[in-house]
Amino acid sequence: MIKVLDSFVADKIAAGEVIERPVSAVKELVENSIDAGAGSIIVEIRNGGKSYIRVTDDGCGISFDEAETAFLRHATSKISGITDLDNIVSLGFRGEALASISAVSRLTMVTRRAEDMSGVKIVLHGGRVVSKDRTGCNKGTTVIAEDLFYNTPARRKFMKTDAREASSVIELIQQYAVCYAGIRFMMINNGITLFTTDGDGDPYNVIRMLYPTIAKHGLLHVENEHVKGYVSDPGSTMNTRKGQLFFVNGRLVSSTVIEKGLEEGYHGRIFSGFPAAVLFIEAEPCDIDVNIHPGKQEIRFLRQDEVKKDISEAVSTAVMSGSGIPKGFVRSIEKTLEKQLNIPAQQKDETEQTSIREFLKNLDRHDPYEMPETVETSAAAEVTETMYVPVSSPAEAEPEVIHKPAPFDFADLVFKGYVFNTYIIMQSKDDLYIFDQHAAHERVFYEKFMRGYNNSAHSPQPVLTSFTITVSNDVYSMSGEWLGDLIRMGYDIEDFGDCTFIVRGIPPYMSAGEAEGFARGYAEATGEAGGSNKVVIDKLITRSCKSAVKAHDVLSEHEINDLMSELAKCDNPYSCPHGRPTFIRISSYDIERSFRRK
Ligand code: ADP
Ligand code: MG
Repeated sequence: MIKVLDSFVADKIAAGEVIERPVSAVKELVENSIDAGAGSIIVEIRNGGKSYIRVTDDGCGISFDEAETAFLRHATSKISGITDLDNIVSLGFRGEALASISAVSRLTMVTRRAEDMSGVKIVLHGGRVVSKDRTGCNKGTTVIAEDLFYNTPARRKFMKTDAREASSVIELIQQYAVCYAGIRFMMINNGITLFTTDGDGDPYNVIRMLYPTIAKHGLLHVENEHVKGYVSDPGSTMNTRKGQLFFVNGRLVSSTVIEKGLEEGYHGRIFSGFPAAVLFIEAEPCDIDVNIHPGKQEIRFLRQDEVKKDISEAVSTAVMSGSGIPKGFVRSIEKTLEKQLNIPAQQKDETEQTSIREFLKNLDRHDPYEMPETVETSAAAEVTETMYVPVSSPAEAEPEVIHKPAPFDFADLVFKGYVFNTYIIMQSKDDLYIFDQHAAHERVFYEKFMRGYNNSAHSPQPVLTSFTITVSNDVYSMSGEWLGDLIRMGYDIEDFGDCTFIVRGIPPYMSAGEAEGFARGYAEATGEAGGSNKVVIDKLITRSCKSAVKAHDVLSEHEINDLMSELAKCDNPYSCPHGRPTFIRISSYDIERSFRRK
């Protein structure tokens, strides 16, 4: 017999699509508060939000008469007709959130409009109104959702541990606090206030407070017509995309178009890891489709290429202003190229550049290095590559990336110089070698670490002065998932409260500096990877090694020799743990050819 579903059943089914986890409920409630014009929003959760979620705002409130209507499916004050869908400016618009949350919890809403003498308290269980009374209360709205999914056991099973659910909620609130820097956000977890932002309207203050790991990446200011925010210096990347926050019209979104635009803005200067970025993007409401996912996280741009270009240009400007290379240097290389390629000298600058690029594009060669988008904005590393752009016999004249050319004898190498505080120049009889000190150090550290980890007793070696590491709130709340690993690796590390851990002992196979960077990198990477099986741990170790090693530490010749002999001992001296080459080779023949001696 075919039956029309009872509306409460239908709500429970539909709710699953919108409200998957506590964090989805929190997201909807916070968005309602923002839409209500709140200046202050308090979010409180217990047990990861499973047993208790409270969102309190000082927004416009709801009248006594409309309090019940708000819980009806498709009841919304935000759109009225189908044409409105093209011009969505508020965060919520489906009129489903309150209906969905109330369908799967025991919900209490207390609300009052400024103009009303008294407020209203309405209680719903599983979507049914249990009581509705007038009450005295502050202006604004409080929604309390308890025992989430108490009546949908199947859904309950999909929830993760309390710590993980809490972490997602905290992360979400951190993100909104950055995006809506003009709103004061308070986050309370299991009775403890984790943070309160100023609400002074400056996102940078919030980033500094809630994302110290992003802020320390030397943020550069991005500003053009539609794209504003901050990006990290190309030299400092993070292990995960967690340092990337994109907001489109005030909505936190994920979008591969934005990710690509961001990446392109660096013109290939990011070798491993991800840049940190907080970008606020404005788009015409009619140019975006926010309706493709019930959780609304994913966004589709109708003019993808334009958006990507806008972002990459804005990022590029910021990155170049931060650490661009002198124009004269690039131009002299261009001039050389121009001569080599026999391009008529009288052409104007722009055409010169284009024709060089065109020419190179048309050369039928399999270039592992793509030409930079614009020659002017290319980085030092790329210029090196450009310098060796071939004259007549392209494929041979390129610097060759060495993939295990065994046997390779480090003993043949003679130290010749050290440039850009990063690259070590060595020479053998017939070849010139350029070593990347950072990649080499990463490789050395990684192998030393793995050997130590596999062979030593892992008993911590006490440090003279203990040090502390501070992590973000979301990482802190998941310490159960990474702290134990560090202790097993040989750390004497202990929770010191307030997102801080004190380290009194370090693994015997690390220096203090390495140990600090590694622990921090490991904690940060855990949130992304999840789980704790061996493969994941290996991956985390690989990633975290990067944090243990600093670029641009100026090395003495003595240290360079040490690094070389350490590298020579490695099982795989040819690449860093992330697969970047540790050194490249340029043969004397290549050099002579470039000077047309051969
Ligand atoms: P939507 O946000 O898509 O309109 P919701 O189910 O989330 O749908 O909310 C229904 C309606 O209830 C909203 O349109 C709004 O009028 C009202 N509302 C919900 N939360 C609040 C709040 N915190 N303050 C004021 N009004 C609210
Ligand atoms: Mg809503």
